[in-house]
Amino acid sequence: MNPHWRKPLLTLGIVAAVVLPIWPIAGKTAALLVACAVLALLLVQHLYNFSLFHDWLLDPRPDAVPNGTGSWEQLFSYLHRMVRRQGQTEARLQEALLRFQKAGAALPEAVILLDADNRIDQCNPKAEKYFGLRASRDRGQQITYLVRQPQFVEYLQTGDFTTPLNLKLVTGSGSEAILSIQIVAYGDSDKLVLGRDITRWERLETTRRDFVANVSHELRTPLTVLNGFLETLTDMEQPDPVMARRSLELMLQQCVRMNNLVEDLLTLSRLESAVTPLRDDPVDVCDLVQHLYQDALALSGGRHDIRLRLETSIGLRGSAEELRSALGNLVSNAIRYTPDGGRIELHWELRGDVPMFSVTDTGIGIEAHHIDRLTERFYRVDRSRSRETGGTGLGLAIVKHVLSRHHARLDIQSEPGKGSTFAAVFPPDRAVVMDEPAEAPAVAVRAVEDATTAAS
Ligand code: ADP
Repeated sequence: MNPHWRKPLLTLGIVAAVVLPIWPIAGKTAALLVACAVLALLLVQHLYNFSLFHDWLLDPRPDAVPNGTGSWEQLFSYLHRMVRRQGQTEARLQEALLRFQKAGAALPEAVILLDADNRIDQCNPKAEKYFGLRASRDRGQQITYLVRQPQFVEYLQTGDFTTPLNLKLVTGSGSEAILSIQIVAYGDSDKLVLGRDITRWERLETTRRDFVANVSHELRTPLTVLNGFLETLTDMEQPDPVMARRSLELMLQQCVRMNNLVEDLLTLSRLESAVTPLRDDPVDVCDLVQHLYQDALALSGGRHDIRLRLETSIGLRGSAEELRSALGNLVSNAIRYTPDGGRIELHWELRGDVPMFSVTDTGIGIEAHHIDRLTERFYRVDRSRSRETGGTGLGLAIVKHVLSRHHARLDIQSEPGKGSTFAAVFPPDRAVVMDEPAEAPAVAVRAVEDATTAAS
């Protein structure tokens, strides 16, 4: 028998068992009165339990399910179990939702969920950052009221999301970003807006395009010159030997120029590629700088007063080849951008515990607004002067790369018309005491030579 029937029937049985013996003893009325009294008590008990149930339904807290009495006891115990199970399911769902929200927050992309009317349902922190939204405040708002860029509004309205939309935005922090927006329809007519930050990629792409354009431009001039001479020489049946010689000389110049450019490009590409890790050899900088000094004398050919100051015998950990290329670039620039009769000083010192190589010249100098851009590839203050002196526009880009591979920096001080100082500043932990100290005292001007004397 159904347990819900068993208990009330048992109770009625007990009532009958109590009342029936009274009947023959005290008469029918007394028996009926006792029966009514017992039934009234049972009714009160039911009403009491019913009111407990009613009160709980008005405020159905899982921890306040009443215990009940009599046949209600069982009922309330079922209810208790059901409420507990429901609580557990809710907690599991809550946890899953929380995990889902955390995953959404951790996504590197901006994510916005839109309903069928393009109202915001959810958005993650990246979406808040890029679109200036606030999830708590903007839920239920039309997205086009908040993201007003005409391209975005049009993209959303056309409903054709096969190709992503590149959108330029000013983010909440005021910086510019380029997002690749993709919209995915799901469910009935809900939409998922995904925004991927492609700012860095776009910048790299622009740099790449500029680089290709620059290289092509740099190669075009010498190639045009070569082409011109070759055509002229080919057209002439009997070229004038003097003219032919002059043409060959000029063609050679252009070839040297192209060769320098290709060499510098290869050096840059070697430095930029991660496959060539930095060597960590002890480099005798005094020796290296002395060689640079000799090269400088040769390059200047006596046109400048070139001096050398070696104030420390300390060396550096790094790549001798790369350091020679970088420091050599600074020296050759000083010669190329210093008019005849000017002074150039090569200086190797330990400033406190900071190793520093600097080249100071009394050359043409550089206006302040150019200085930050000098290490960009192909950036030149004066194009024609750079070319005339055999420059490729890549020298300081190479210097910057080499120095950053040695965790060093390039300091540039310059005044137009007065001269410049280019200093390579190395971190103290790159310094290395050389086995064989340099010939001269550590802290003293070791050699000061007059280029004119040297050249003579
Ligand atoms: P370039 O091959 O043109 O010299 P670099 O990268 O070596 O290319 O230098 C970039 C530009 O910085 C040069 O074109 C020149 O305008 C400027 N510059 C570099 N060194 C000096 C210097 N010592 N004095 C004046 N200008 C300099």
